[in-house]
Amino acid sequence: MAEEYKIDVVKTENSRLERTSMENLSFGKMFTDHMLVADYANGKWEKVQILPYGPITLDPAATVFHYGQEIFEGIKAFHNNDGNDYVFRPDMNWKRFNISATGLCMPEVPEEIFIGGLKKLIEVDRGWIPTAPEHSLYIRPFMIATQAFLGVHPAKEYKFIIILSPSGPYFGKPAAIRIERHFTRSAKGGVGYSKNGGNYASSLKAVEKAEKDGYDQVLWTEAPEHKNIQEVGAMNVMFVLGDKIVTPELDGTILAGVTRDSIITVLNDWGLTVEERPISVDELIAAHQNGTFREAFGTGTAAVISPIGKLELSDDLVIEFDVEKFDIAKKLKATLDDIRLGRVADTHNWLMKV
Ligand SMILES: *Cc1c(COP(=O)(O)O)cnc(C)c1O
Repeated sequence: MAEEYKIDVVKTENSRLERTSMENLSFGKMFTDHMLVADYANGKWEKVQILPYGPITLDPAATVFHYGQEIFEGIKAFHNNDGNDYVFRPDMNWKRFNISATGLCMPEVPEEIFIGGLKKLIEVDRGWIPTAPEHSLYIRPFMIATQAFLGVHPAKEYKFIIILSPSGPYFGKPAAIRIERHFTRSAKGGVGYSKNGGNYASSLKAVEKAEKDGYDQVLWTEAPEHKNIQEVGAMNVMFVLGDKIVTPELDGTILAGVTRDSIITVLNDWGLTVEERPISVDELIAAHQNGTFREAFGTGTAAVISPIGKLELSDDLVIEFDVEKFDIAKKLKATLDDIRLGRVADTHNWLMKV
């Protein structure tokens, strides 16, 4: 930790930890005693503090409220089988955060503040890392533009904040998904590769419509033809076609998932090849027709792997999968859990001790 970014710690006098049950938690509803707040002004990060968790005060003219300069990350920390606490691949999230920042003309956050701040915050709130099976501490770093002015222009002042949320297991049932043929999440030349709030706000309507028709999520396709597949909801998507695993390539319209990268690495370790390339809806229909469409699943930090149980590919073709037979998805989930919990060797150095 460079002296340059000394972190001041102001501890709460009213810890909620003692009166909080850490069993059977849901996702993203409970927060720990403290948060990290860093302020950017005059062209540099000026102040980094760990403060009692609570509301923040902003000027109503703060640009985040008007033109949406906001980016975020999602990371998990685990209480491991060896009794220590680890964060999974935070360096990847730090790099991606700065790619998101650059895409929205926001300042980069130095490693000392992002990773160093994360470590220090977890040290202060270590008691909040759940130890119950399948539980974890979800870490949400984010940055907002705070300068008070209404011009459409990159702001000159920002806040970088990290909050922590003890979370339970994700017992998602197999998802019912349909191809999105009208709405677009992201197009070439846009900022689909960045985790910015605007991408999520503008995706809500499509999902709302899909839910009305009995689906859980949409499979995003490339505009305007809606032929090539991008992602499933806010997860990357993978298919097993015959003995090949295929996933859309990182073409700037999709998020470069840390889970996606980890899964490709594990599959390569097993000697399997993953094809990162354009995948059309027609290719999936053909694979279904010739009997080679074996598995379909989403990948992301929250659920790790989310099997697709029902997939609508066209007006008259809805495929039902028996997800119990998803051998590759199951083995991947087990392997990633084993690595995260220290049940197998961490050969790629993915765990950072905190
Ligand atoms: C966060 C996210 C993912 C998954 O990324 P992970 O790093 O694996 O959690 C995929 N797609 C979108 C749109 C996302 O926001």
